[in-house]
Amino acid sequence: MNLTSPTKIKEILDKYQIKPSKSLGQNFLIDKNILDKIILASNLSKKDIVLEIGPGIGTLTQELAKLAGKVIAIEKDHDMVNILAETLKDFHNIHIIEGDALTLDPKPYTLYPKYKLIANIPYYLTSHLIRTFLECENPPQEIILLIQKEVAQRICAKPPFMNLLAVSVQFYATPEIISYVSKNCFLPAPKVDSAIISIKDIGSRIESSEFFKIVKAGFSHPRKQLANNFCSALKMERKAVDAWLLKNNIKPNQRAETLSIEDWKNLAQGAEGLGDRV
Ligand code: SAH
Repeated sequence: MNLTSPTKIKEILDKYQIKPSKSLGQNFLIDKNILDKIILASNLSKKDIVLEIGPGIGTLTQELAKLAGKVIAIEKDHDMVNILAETLKDFHNIHIIEGDALTLDPKPYTLYPKYKLIANIPYYLTSHLIRTFLECENPPQEIILLIQKEVAQRICAKPPFMNLLAVSVQFYATPEIISYVSKNCFLPAPKVDSAIISIKDIGSRIESSEFFKIVKAGFSHPRKQLANNFCSALKMERKAVDAWLLKNNIKPNQRAETLSIEDWKNLAQGAEGLGDRV
């Protein structure tokens, strides 16, 4: 079934008397070229297990199922689940689960020794999903997502334009923008453009609470100097903060956005002697 055809999508939605839901971020992919790019980047074989969030009417799902061994797709909207029963009826390697990815315990889906997370997700889920899957006990081998362009750019930022989200992702993995995607590739068209992002080299869970305490303190007021942020957020004396920064080759007047992942790791390692504040 050609599920990238706008006429076909409209026909299906009409048949089930459904209007795309804004609050569920329902913007269906209608561009075959973009679909091909996601599939190519996914590098799938029959050995792969794919987890998809928000399959919609099954456009991406059916292409994933043609190449992968198994696709597990989690969809919140009951109407979409009914549609999927029709559009994907010829596939026997797709398992649809009706559920909410926001409140979902990822454990049952991450028990496979290896799996890939591949999806065109509703934008409001982006940070939550990425955080959940990077931090879970058994993270995916690889994540490929179609997300809002600005968020993709923020995730891939480098010093001196870093931000908390970029540090949070790059601490665990290597993100890369595969392609930009025009808002006209969706029905209905959202307000903003999108991008395909791949997140690779995902490390297993490292003890990270101390690391993120420091990073969050550093970004507590992104426009302010790092030393001031640490003094107030970690309740430390200026002298101790300056010495800690200088020891790690960071100037106290630098801003958090200029620090690399390596800098943050050094700071976290060097924080052991700083007492219980960190
Ligand atoms: N992947 C499809 C649909 C994208 S629209 C495509 O490329 O065409 C986003 C989909 O996510 C919709 O089907 C919507 O119902 C679903 N969705 C929204 N919030 C969700 C949630 N919390 N958990 C699971 N699915 C959700």
